[in-house]
Amino acid sequence: MGLTRICKQIFFSVLILTLGSGILTAQKKANFVIVIDAGHGGKDIGARGVVENEKDITLDVALRFGQLIEKNFKDVQVIYTRKTDVFLELWERARIANKNHANLFVSIHCNSAANKSAYGSETFVMGLRRMEENMEVSKRENSVILLEDDQERYQKFDPNDEEAVIAFEIMHSAYLDQSIKYASLVENEFSRGGRSSRGVKQNIFHVLRENASPSVLVELGFISNPDEGTYLSTEKGKQERAESLFQAFKKYKQEYDEKDGRIVMEEKPKEVEKPVAGLTYKIQILVSKNKYAPSAKQLNGLTDVEVVQAGDLYKYYYGNTNLASERDQLLNYAIKKGFKDAFVVEFVNNEKLIGNQNYRIQFLASDKKYRDRDGKFGGLKDVLRIKKGKTNFYYYGTTKTYEDAQKELNYVKSRGFRNAIVVVFDGKKPLE
Ligand SMILES: [Zn+2]
Repeated sequence: MGLTRICKQIFFSVLILTLGSGILTAQKKANFVIVIDAGHGGKDIGARGVVENEKDITLDVALRFGQLIEKNFKDVQVIYTRKTDVFLELWERARIANKNHANLFVSIHCNSAANKSAYGSETFVMGLRRMEENMEVSKRENSVILLEDDQERYQKFDPNDEEAVIAFEIMHSAYLDQSIKYASLVENEFSRGGRSSRGVKQNIFHVLRENASPSVLVELGFISNPDEGTYLSTEKGKQERAESLFQAFKKYKQEYDEKDGRIVMEEKPKEVEKPVAGLTYKIQILVSKNKYAPSAKQLNGLTDVEVVQAGDLYKYYYGNTNLASERDQLLNYAIKKGFKDAFVVEFVNNEKLIGNQNYRIQFLASDKKYRDRDGKFGGLKDVLRIKKGKTNFYYYGTTKTYEDAQKELNYVKSRGFRNAIVVVFDGKKPLE
């Protein structure tokens, strides 16, 4: 079928994109974006406190912290993930940071423990080396996922899976140093006031995982502790915490300015590896006559697997990169996840399909025959219907390159068709 020749890849890897945007943003002087994330909210109250609950304390401190920056830094844009008591999914918080090209992401939380005597602040950064005692915190802060509608988005991520952690570490290593820097400044400030600090820790939090910026998760203290819980519920406690966050920010920002915004570039000598020109690597993990949903167990928990149907076979691709080192890491990871026969496929960027061949997006299969522009199509126009046996298959768009097909796919998915896939056509018929 020669599909691997036909196929190619669209986007640079997530890594390249995120690093790239980080550098660009950093180079712009007098333009620093901080995203302040008040943890929890709405139906998700977070931890229960002795006086006040987590979602209310975090919002109050977040607003105070932001106001201090707004008042003192004209060159800093402050963006809040929420300014009121509303529920926000974790990925949405990360999306806000990424969309605004945040230079720093600060997620504010409160701790709680069954042992009422536990107290002290702690600040987390995304990290590889996890300490066992942190797992409880991670479980609690991530437990909001159970309240969210889109379980699928997260279920592939297992914080207990060391390898999954390593894969995500690739994305975050460039920002780890800066994240630790701000985290340390915060804990220094917290302990300055005579209150207890448990220090900087590394952990896995979903809210941090998707962020393409230096990111920290601050636990202001234990609201399950009678003393600390009371303190954090007072005007004084909240103001002091906000001022500590602000003082730490001031120092962080000063250093950022001194380096003239070149922090990201200077601290990443690792990025000397040159991307391979004109090629994108993907890992082919599976070929099957069956179509699996993104969350299917047959994909062994791998995320963002791409599916291309050609003839009666479905090909499953994992990852995409134009870095040789990352290619090898992706392959090793796929093998470790149980795809013993996984191999690297080279996609020629923007290669066009030959002859009349084209890509279309299959987004619906039904025994029902829908009319053009049926409400079922979620606004998709010029839908092609092909009947096979008793089933009607519905297709959207037609493109010559795999890159464009992925754009169409993303569009179709955004209309609610999560399980849509790319199919190779010959003219107006699926490739035999
Ligand atoms: Zn929390």
